[in-house]
Amino acid sequence: MSRFWSSKTRELKPYVPGEQPREQRLIKLNTNELPYGPSPGALAAMRAACDDSLRLYPDPTGLALRQSIAQAYGLDVEQVFVGNGSDEVLAHAFQALLQQPAPLRFPDITYSFYPVYCGLYGIQSVRVPLADDLRLLPQAYQDNAGPIIFANPNAPTGIALPLADVEAIVAANPDHVVVIDEAYVDFGGESAVPLIARHDNLLVVHTLSKSRGLAGLRVGYAMGHADLIEGLTRVKDSFNSYPLDRVALAGAQAAIEDTDYLAECCARVAFTREKTVAAMREMGFDVLPSAANFIFARHAGRQAAELAGALRQRRIIVRHFQQPRIEQFLRISIGTDEEMDALCDALSGILADQGGC
Ligand SMILES: *Cc1c(COP(=O)(O)O)cnc(C)c1O
Repeated sequence: MSRFWSSKTRELKPYVPGEQPREQRLIKLNTNELPYGPSPGALAAMRAACDDSLRLYPDPTGLALRQSIAQAYGLDVEQVFVGNGSDEVLAHAFQALLQQPAPLRFPDITYSFYPVYCGLYGIQSVRVPLADDLRLLPQAYQDNAGPIIFANPNAPTGIALPLADVEAIVAANPDHVVVIDEAYVDFGGESAVPLIARHDNLLVVHTLSKSRGLAGLRVGYAMGHADLIEGLTRVKDSFNSYPLDRVALAGAQAAIEDTDYLAECCARVAFTREKTVAAMREMGFDVLPSAANFIFARHAGRQAAELAGALRQRRIIVRHFQQPRIEQFLRISIGTDEEMDALCDALSGILADQGGC
């Protein structure tokens, strides 16, 4: 706290990201990174971009990257926006599209950055409860009453909403923007991108941080009607003309074009996820059905905080949210097969060690 802070700064409640430990020998299952490296072609493109051309500013429009994204998803380049991580893309969407007279609606349990942006931009919001089984209820969003945002698959539950339900929400709210945050869609969800052609109020946000193994590069993108994209661009060009550097533009473009590598990584993660889910259910965990690269699980006989602490002592970090309705769950990212075997060994040791309830 400083007397020089603006009143706005004093009131902010910043997002708290998952821990990025300095210690190397930990098994890190807390921030949903891919356990595999990025596309080898993307690494080569980034190495090639490291030359004297770095003295020049990058393309402020990110045109080549946007063209590759447009081609990959069957869109026009004017329907694609790129930014410095999808968190930045989302921030621009909040300011450009979701800051409206009608309050923004989002689920009570979803990506915890949404309320932070509401605080930053002074956006009123309404939290719409998920069902008791933590599924999103499409019928709760049928009233065309204001803009909407949710993650699909949702975070931190991992539960995917079927595309027909997504379209029902978008179609029922024609006078408001609906943002679908598809950070995890490549691992098993159904993307809403094909709906963009029919709905001018739909914005779909993706990231290279999860399925493409490039969390360290900071690239995300949004897809939607060209008029929505123009709104995002107006905000971006009033904030930072060059959010993506030359290396990031080159690496992201090559990563988007390497669809084979994407498919291979996602298939491996889905396979490991299903093995882990089966093993944990065997141990008595209630594991929500996940279409993402993480699972959300609780154990009837153990406090989640206690399990997270015991795992940490065994050098495994997972995420625990101290939040009503989900405080008994752990969110566990899907690592390599070896890492998940180590997790399951640790969990069965912890459950055996401390006796049942
Ligand atoms: C990880 C995540 C993001 C942020 O992704 P970045 O592109 O790394 O900023 C956005 N939304 C959800 C739901 C996420 O889990």
